[in-house]
Parts: sequence; structure tokens; C-alpha cells
Amino acid sequence: MVKVGVLALQGAVREHIRSVEECGAEGIAIKKIEQLKEVDGLILPGGESTAMRRLIDKYGFMDALKEFAAEGKPMFGTCAGLILLAKNLVGNEPHIGVMDITVERNSFGRQVDSFEADLAIKDVADNFPAVFIRAPHIVEAGAEVEILAKHNDRIVAAREGQFLGCSFHPELTDQHDLTAYFVEMVKEVKAKQFA
Ligand code: GLN
Repeated sequence: MVKVGVLALQGAVREHIRSVEECGAEGIAIKKIEQLKEVDGLILPGGESTAMRRLIDKYGFMDALKEFAAEGKPMFGTCAGLILLAKNLVGNEPHIGVMDITVERNSFGRQVDSFEADLAIKDVADNFPAVFIRAPHIVEAGAEVEILAKHNDRIVAAREGQFLGCSFHPELTDQHDLTAYFVEMVKEVKAKQFA
């Protein structure tokens, strides 16, 4: 069974673990740097990216997260996690900065902080109930990035090799297709390591 970690410094951790387990993988809340060695893939959850960044620095996680990416292990950033993965941020310095996308925060208007939309996500689902909470969006994607979903002409889900990112909260619904897609990415990478 593959092991999928969920960075547990802040944000929606428990729901992601439940979703990972629904997909037949083991979910592990990552609270210490050493635990990263135990997992085959990592989810960076939603929450608040500046708060999460502060905790990443406080507990010295940044180098270990960059190393995890450099080892080719799959990473899935959801909402604030997408912001952490992006190589470029509008108006801000990047955080982990590994996925070739430009992301803008809080993109969907102040008055509609939170909403649900049915999305068609390529290779995942025709109708995915996506929950957006003060969500970012992908303004620009590099040549190697595959766009998986758009909402109102804005990119809200994408993949670049080992990296998967989305603007919304896939863990807040009972439909686990997107988590299952990530678990498959993790299985593929792990299978190659032992091939
Ligand atoms: N707006 C938040 C941020 O900038 C992200 C919101 C979320 O993760 N639900 O970090």
C-alpha cells in the first residue's frame, strides 16, 4: 500500500487523510520533518498560505520539502497548497516554488468568498463538486503543464509531471476522484522506483 502524507502544520488535514484512505492508500499526518521519509507522496492542504509559510519556516520544513520535490516524489497542492507549490506568485515571492505556474491569491471576489461549482476535470470526472474558499487561480501555466480544469475561463486544476494542483478543496466532498488520481500518480512513481 502506498503512503501519502498530508502536511499537518495548519489547514484541512483530517479530511484529506480520510479521502486518501477512501482511495485505498495509507494517510499520514506529517508533523515532523523526519516523517517525510516515510511517505511516497505529499498533499499540501488548503488553509492560509502565509500562516502555513510561517509555520514551515518556524519548524524548518522548507529544505525538506524542496528535497522531497527534487527526489521526484508526487506533491498535490490544494488551494493554499497550490500557492505553496507555484514558481511564481502575483505580488509575492514564491514559497516552495517547484511547479511551473503563476498563481494569484483570492481570485474569485471578496463578496463570494466561498461557493461550489460542478467542474469537468480531465481524466478525473465529468462532474466534480468543487468547493472554492477564498480560492486562488492559475494565471499562467508553463509549456509542460497540463490544464485539467477551468472555471469561468480561469485555470483551477493542472498537472506538471509529479505535481498536481487545484484551486478548490477536493477533500470537502464525498467524491474522491481527484484524490484517487493523485494516489495513482504516487503508485506510478513508486512502481518505477522498484522496476
Ligand atoms: N486565500 C488563502 C490563501 O491565500 C487560500 C484559501 C484556502 O486554502 N481555502 O492562502
